[in-house]
Amino acid sequence: MMDSNKALVVFSGGQDSTTCLFWAKKNFKEVHAITFLYGQRHKIEVEKARKIAAQAGVPITVREVNFIGEISTGCSLIDTAVKMDPVKPEKTMPNTFVPGRNLFFLSIAAVHAREIGAKNIITGVSQTDFSGYPDCRDSFIRSLNVTINLAMDEQFLIHTPLMWLNKAQTWKLADELGVFDLVRNETLTCYNGIPGDGCGNCPACQLRMKGLQEYLESKNSQL
Ligand code: ZN
Repeated sequence: MMDSNKALVVFSGGQDSTTCLFWAKKNFKEVHAITFLYGQRHKIEVEKARKIAAQAGVPITVREVNFIGEISTGCSLIDTAVKMDPVKPEKTMPNTFVPGRNLFFLSIAAVHAREIGAKNIITGVSQTDFSGYPDCRDSFIRSLNVTINLAMDEQFLIHTPLMWLNKAQTWKLADELGVFDLVRNETLTCYNGIPGDGCGNCPACQLRMKGLQEYLESKNSQL
């Protein structure tokens, strides 16, 4: 029996999914988290995810899905021999793209959600500030929601609280949820594996910092 008060968050310990974790805690009675290990460059990501989940009082399941890294090559997040694209290339996807990642993650999450009886699945994907990842788009999420429902004959609801928010608005949401400091200090978004404000140079840090500055400026101008 699927419980509509129960939610499973696809959780990485980064800014977006941490904000989603606390959004879920506000909106659902019982929240669980699932984290995937897929040969990330930075195992510290998983340690961070465990720590934040513990702080949030949310049980976390860690699943090893190394095959995702094994079946595709050329991704700089998995293969340390590949140098990361410093900025998004004009016509192609950045080499931080892991083909099929969200397809695998959400499919596995749905099976896990079914196991624990959670009707709601939450993911922090966003198509605003679009990095060119096709599996972050709303059309993909809607399509997959239909597919997993057909696959398991259930009525899962995939929630994407950040889909139409830019990074500044995501910071605002964290602030409204009362976890601004936690998100700022504890999460890891940096591609170089440095928590909090990160290395400051990689594309993830730049996006995060730009959004943070925008948010802080707008907040100060309202005071
Ligand atoms: Zn960085």
